Amino acid sequence: MKFIFVTGGVVSSLGKGVLTSSLGALLRARGHKVTAVKIDPYINIDAGTMRPYEHGEVFVTAGGSETDLDVGNYERFLDMDTPEGSQITTGQVYQEVIRKERAGEYLSQTVQVIPHVTDEIKRRIRESANRAGADICIIEVGGTVGDIESLPFLEAIRTMRFDEGYENVAYVHLTLAPSVTSGEIKTKPTQHSVAALRSVGITPDFVVVRSSDPLGEDMRKKISLFTSVDPDGVFSSHNLEHIYEVPLTLEDQGLGKAVERRLKLEKVQPNLWFWQDAVKKLKNPSSSVKIGFVGKYVALADAYQSILEGLRHAGIANDARVDVAWISAEELEEVGAENTLLAGLDGILIGPGFGNRGVEGKIKAARYAREQKVPYFGICLGMQVAVIDYARLGGLEGANSTEFDAYSPHKVIDLMPEQLEQQDMGGTMRLGDWPMQIKAGTRMASIYGLPNGGLVKERHRHRYEVNPKYVAALEGAGLVVSAVTPGMRGRGAGLVEAIEIADHPFFVGLQAHPEFKSRPMRPSPPFKAFIEASLEFAKARG
Ligand code: GLN
Repeated sequence: MKFIFVTGGVVSSLGKGVLTSSLGALLRARGHKVTAVKIDPYINIDAGTMRPYEHGEVFVTAGGSETDLDVGNYERFLDMDTPEGSQITTGQVYQEVIRKERAGEYLSQTVQVIPHVTDEIKRRIRESANRAGADICIIEVGGTVGDIESLPFLEAIRTMRFDEGYENVAYVHLTLAPSVTSGEIKTKPTQHSVAALRSVGITPDFVVVRSSDPLGEDMRKKISLFTSVDPDGVFSSHNLEHIYEVPLTLEDQGLGKAVERRLKLEKVQPNLWFWQDAVKKLKNPSSSVKIGFVGKYVALADAYQSILEGLRHAGIANDARVDVAWISAEELEEVGAENTLLAGLDGILIGPGFGNRGVEGKIKAARYAREQKVPYFGICLGMQVAVIDYARLGGLEGANSTEFDAYSPHKVIDLMPEQLEQQDMGGTMRLGDWPMQIKAGTRMASIYGLPNGGLVKERHRHRYEVNPKYVAALEGAGLVVSAVTPGMRGRGAGLVEAIEIADHPFFVGLQAHPEFKSRPMRPSPPFKAFIEASLEFAKARG
């Protein structure tokens, strides 16, 4: 097993996740089985309770872990389902160390950061790599070098070179070379940041430098000289139009080959055809569509990263550019706002959400799409608001979700009785892969290529369900329930998983989050179908 550690310096948000994923893609393109692990030095056990507009979206794995959004990048670039344990936090590490201490597993020892905490960190890294059955594991260390809370992790990864052997461990450091007003690129922050890394005993094998423009040869030499990293170990990660270009530029500069040499891997010609083709399509699409994305955190794309990626994948598959127009759900609440804010769109997407801010605006958008016959794609809360709108249309006045109106006379979206007994925040969530039974002859059936219906797994992250008591009434009013949770009893059996409206160009809602499974090379079927329908709608409209 080979381990590659990716650290970062100077400032946060330089794109360590994209670098980790791109490096993984280059190794995967050489036929290696690669996995990636994200280390987050915060004390939270996972990302489940964190605010999306501060930390970006919560990415949900197949096993139901609520992780950092970078894990989503790993899954997309490596085209793999990450196993459990793909995110390691300080909270998890300490929880386990304290559990062991209480259980008497360290009997007679003083339990300390070194070696007990660092050993637990290393154990988790190895366990996660083994679980994935990988031959190369790339570990991204969150935060920036110099942060107090990342010290135990840096100490752990420093010693892994001695545990595993020089040929099996490499370190990559990502830094920033800012340009000053004169346009000159500055290398000093990079020097300082590498110095900080060396002060904890880690000498990077490779330095990747973020900058607005490509680094010239002179800059590389200078950085090499000041950091004691070989000149051919310095790489430039300059601004690019699309993140899918990152693996290609890094390969062009020889990163893949350099890692091969450093880790004594067999030399292989990488197969990067897919990335080249995807970038070509992204740069020169045959057509374009304008999708209105109605949401709460409209200011921060990171909060909806996987959905934006899902749209991008669907765009590549349809050879079309997808332009996203952000629409604030709260602004939509104003009287008549829909006629201006939603006019001229080729499709309307309502994404996930928690809490009642802007929810009436979302219900209004679903109604607008239904009435104006604009393609509509509702994900999780986006499906729930469409159900609420339909219930009100069907005469259930004041219909709502208990999440937004605990006194609603028609709680068409509600908690299930067995959930009410749960105490723990999060304990009541339906998380991870759950199957849905798609009904024959529905649009969902054709979306997933299962004309006779069948089982499909998508990832879930929600608490409320369509209230089974209202399903017959909703169906009576014309709403099609196109998928349900299979099984006869227990949480989930028979619950509504998807809805659609028949006499409409495209009106589909899913309780699940298909965005989490969308991959550049395997776009999510509902995303692909939504963009296809939006393209047709745009064409028909002229
Ligand atoms: N708030 C809703 C629920 O908990 C929807 C969640 C979501 O959109 N992810 O059911």
